[in-house]
Amino acid sequence: MKYSFPKIDLHLHLDGSFRTPTIWELAMQQGVEMPAESPEGFEEWMKKCSYSGSVNEFLLMFDVTTQVMQDRDSLIRLTRELIEDIAAQGVVYAEIRFAPQLHTRKGMTQREAIEAVLEGRRQGMEKTGIDIGIICCMMCVGDETVNWDANMETAMITHEYLDKGVVCIDLAGAEGIVPLSNFAPLFAKAKELGTPIICHAGDSQDWKTVKDAIDMSAQRIGHGHHIYENPALSRYAAEHGIALEICPTSNIQCQTRETYQLHPAWNLYSIGIPVTINTDNMTMSRVTLDDEYDHCLQEMGFEYEDLILMNINSAKVSFMKEEKKKEVLAELERCLDEVSE
Ligand SMILES: [Zn+2]
Repeated sequence: MKYSFPKIDLHLHLDGSFRTPTIWELAMQQGVEMPAESPEGFEEWMKKCSYSGSVNEFLLMFDVTTQVMQDRDSLIRLTRELIEDIAAQGVVYAEIRFAPQLHTRKGMTQREAIEAVLEGRRQGMEKTGIDIGIICCMMCVGDETVNWDANMETAMITHEYLDKGVVCIDLAGAEGIVPLSNFAPLFAKAKELGTPIICHAGDSQDWKTVKDAIDMSAQRIGHGHHIYENPALSRYAAEHGIALEICPTSNIQCQTRETYQLHPAWNLYSIGIPVTINTDNMTMSRVTLDDEYDHCLQEMGFEYEDLILMNINSAKVSFMKEEKKKEVLAELERCLDEVSE
């Protein structure tokens, strides 16, 4: 393993991070039509979609993968396998996110989908010994009225699972179809119920959406790098410890940043924003955390110590249990001392 310090991934989508042969096998079993003739062809198709240069084209891939994730067994298996795979890569803690409402097409309820993912989490944790938090996503799929009820259901039930492995609520999906602030009542409901809030923002859209997310009580922003274009808001995020979940390769593939070199992650990190490095969609983007760290060192201006410091950021802004957090932080501090000796 290239980077031997404890690694943390806070931004990892279940439906974008899977073993391709498993998705293929499930599709064949379930008679789901695939956009290719073979698993290799499917890989090629994903490659093409991932480099389409648009977030919304990228999102097309999830229509395919979620089709085969409509029953309890598939969700359990895919969650368990993902945990096994990241554990093998040296990840000690990750927060895996998914949108319960995308798994109700064949009659599962959102609650049943959450319970299936939690069972996969239990099995994966038992097998690997690593720790996992689950994030429930609400979705932006168009005008906010289209799936308002499904989102409200997610906002209403997420808190019931907070002591069972779910750690917070998020909003994912397409950005910029309607103003992000249109979703404010949903976040207000989640907040009222005591659910911690994070939110995708400022990726394909500008810094104003990051401001909206912060105004809706988001403690962490999924992507959020367009905050860079507003120095005052960037300073605010630094002062208030609003963390950014940066996923470099995803940003380049979706062309929300032109190149790794032009990505402002280092600038944001250097002014004191808790920047974290994550993979977003390991399989669809064909990346691991080690790959992202390579980009950080070779093209984005970070030093080796920064990688450890950013994992310290990740641990601090994560929803790990306090005891586990202390343990991981102590190990990261030890690795940091070793490097600076
Ligand atoms: Zn995401």
